[in-house]
Amino acid sequence: MLNHRQSEKSAGLGENTPKWISEFADLFAQRVSDWSHPRRCLTEPLAAILAAWEYEHDLESGVIEDLRGIFPEALAERCGRSPDTLSGDPRISFGVFMACFVGLLKVWRSEPTPEGLYGSVAAHWCARHPEIFSKVQEAHRLRASFPNIEEIGWTVSDVMSAHGASEELPNHGKLELRETVHFIRQRTWTQAAQTAAYALFGDFLLTEAETIGFCRHCAMPFHRGQKKLFCSLKCARSYSAIRSHDAKARDSRRKTLRKAAKALTKWLQDRHIAASDWQLKIQTVAWTNSDNKRRNRILGAYVRASRTERGSPEREKLLQSLQDASSVAGNERGSKEREGLQQELAAFLLDIQKAEEIQQQRSKRK
Ligand SMILES: [Zn+2]
Repeated sequence: MLNHRQSEKSAGLGENTPKWISEFADLFAQRVSDWSHPRRCLTEPLAAILAAWEYEHDLESGVIEDLRGIFPEALAERCGRSPDTLSGDPRISFGVFMACFVGLLKVWRSEPTPEGLYGSVAAHWCARHPEIFSKVQEAHRLRASFPNIEEIGWTVSDVMSAHGASEELPNHGKLELRETVHFIRQRTWTQAAQTAAYALFGDFLLTEAETIGFCRHCAMPFHRGQKKLFCSLKCARSYSAIRSHDAKARDSRRKTLRKAAKALTKWLQDRHIAASDWQLKIQTVAWTNSDNKRRNRILGAYVRASRTERGSPEREKLLQSLQDASSVAGNERGSKEREGLQQELAAFLLDIQKAEEIQQQRSKRK
C-alpha cells in the first residue's frame, strides 16, 4: 500500500495566538514548533497541554476554533481511516477529546506531589488511580505502529542531484519506509477521541510529567526549574494574598463557633427559665456582624450537619471552613489542631440536637 503523505495544513502561530501562549511557546520553541496544529495535539503531550490550557480559559478563542475545525480529519488519519467510516458526529470529536484530556490533567494537578516517596511521581500517581491507569494502558494497547511504504515528494535538490542540470520532475515519487502509528479498532468518533486523549495523557505521564508544573494559582503549565509552584511572581503573590485572607476568615469563623457554642450551652442550662428560641439566642450573641439572612444560612448549615453522622460530607464541609485540610497534611501541629476543632464541632452539633429536641417537645405541648 502506498500512502501519499498529505500536505501539512496548519493553523499556525498567527494573530490568533494569545500572548501567554507565545511566551510559553518561546520556552518550548525547540520542542513544540507549532502547538496549535491538530496533529501535534494528538501526538505531542506538550502541544496538547497548551491547547488544554487555552481550552479551559477561553473556549471561544480563535486558536480553539481553528483546532475544532481541523481536528476530525487529523483524528481520522490517526485512526488510519477515512473520516466517513467513523460513526457519529465528527464535530463532537474535539470537544470529547479536550474534555477528557482536561479532566485527566485536573486530577493530576489537583494532587500536590507527595514527599518522601521512592521512584517516579507519575508511577505513584498511577498506583493511586487504577481506574485511570487501566484506561491509559488500554489506549496504548490500541495504538499500533508498523512500517509503511510511503511515497515522498521530490525536493529541488533531489532533482538536481539525480538528474544533473535537468530540472524535469521524475514521474514517480521516491519511496521510503516510515513508521506509521494508528489507533486500531476505533469505530466511533467518541471512542476515537477518548482513546486519543488517554493515550496522550499516558505519553505525558511517561515523558513530561516530572518536568512540567502547573501553576497553583492560574493552572498555567510551566517548565519546572527554579520555579516549583507558580508560573510567575505575580501568581505567587496573588495566591498568598488569597491564602492569608482565607486564613483570617477561618479564624473568625472559629471564634464565632466558640461564642455560639458557649451561648447554646448556657441556653440548655437555663431552659427551665427561658422559654426563648435557642436559634435566636445564639444568633444574636455569636453572629453579631451578619444580617438575618446570613445568620440563618450559617446556622442552617450547622443544623443540617447535626442531623448527620460523624464524618459526613456536611460535617466535613464545616470542618473545612474552619481549617484548611491541605495545610494540615503531614503537619503534626496542624492535625492536632484539626482534632481539637473536630471535637469542638461535634460537641456543638450535639448541643444543637438537644436544643432541637427540647424545642420540638415544647411545641407539641402547646
Ligand atoms: Zn500562574
